[in-house]
Amino acid sequence: MSLSASAISNGEQFFALKRAMADAARDVDALLERILPAPHGLHARIHEAVRYALFPSGKQYRTGWKTAHPNVLDYFTWIRISMAGLDHPERTVYVPSIDPSKTTLGFSWIMSDSYEEPSHKHGWVSTPEDIRTPMENRKVVMVEDRLPWIEEQISAYVENHAPEYVRLLCNCLQPELIPKRHAQLQAMANRIDPDRVFSQFKPPRQPRHKCAKVYTRPCLNANGLVYPCDSVVLNKTAGHKFGSQWAVCAWDKVGELYSQPIRQVIEDDICPNCVFSDQVDFIGDVIDGMPTPIPDSQPPQHLNFT
Ligand code: SF4
Repeated sequence: MSLSASAISNGEQFFALKRAMADAARDVDALLERILPAPHGLHARIHEAVRYALFPSGKQYRTGWKTAHPNVLDYFTWIRISMAGLDHPERTVYVPSIDPSKTTLGFSWIMSDSYEEPSHKHGWVSTPEDIRTPMENRKVVMVEDRLPWIEEQISAYVENHAPEYVRLLCNCLQPELIPKRHAQLQAMANRIDPDRVFSQFKPPRQPRHKCAKVYTRPCLNANGLVYPCDSVVLNKTAGHKFGSQWAVCAWDKVGELYSQPIRQVIEDDICPNCVFSDQVDFIGDVIDGMPTPIPDSQPPQHLNFT
């Protein structure tokens, strides 16, 4: 089983991580030595796998991109840029200049209705229950009405930036809409470029096993905390916020995870709509003794492609 790490920005600038990224720009190996001790030979594998991944919202995070030392981008094996900027008032996505020989560029976009309220800023995966203001002050735009414009925009970004892939997804908080919208997205992907663009069918469900996903891919947030995954904050009580109660540890303590026995990092019943349930159950089966399957073909090109 491979190990990798994700870094997410999801709307915040790199406050806690800014210094770490500056360190990384100077000497990424020294940084990794510091945060990832070498229990039982794991270090070499983690070190190899921990080339940071980042999925910044292309709209707000342009500041984060601009303050990152350009050399930092070369340390990322892949960068997946959320096209959520298309859903926000700027209606644009900032794409940094990356070296395709070092870094794989991907885009992703989530098909979700749009909730516009004067008093509240919504993420791109919200539901009608998240609306806070009275009817007269809110505007709900059904995503189907925006789809032709979205298709036009994504086509242009694909043509201008030649990403390796564009992953389209449905709002996992409205699972009843997924089959119909997945078909709409796949039709759109086929029209844009079926070699690069696809709709991923990921219906959410409660995993059978306790979640140990963080052990194979610790997920580093811009606030400096490590989370079990990048979707844990979609649980009903999290309110879309990366609160410290969902964190496993601080960024510089992640190595300690591997020097101690596997423990339960999150309550069993908190994620009934987990979008990583197949992976959680796979990891759980391996922990329970299932032999780790050896891939019989090429290793996956994008480790975070799940
Ligand atoms: S159960 Fe699923 S959503 Fe919850 S923390 Fe684990 S991987 Fe994330």
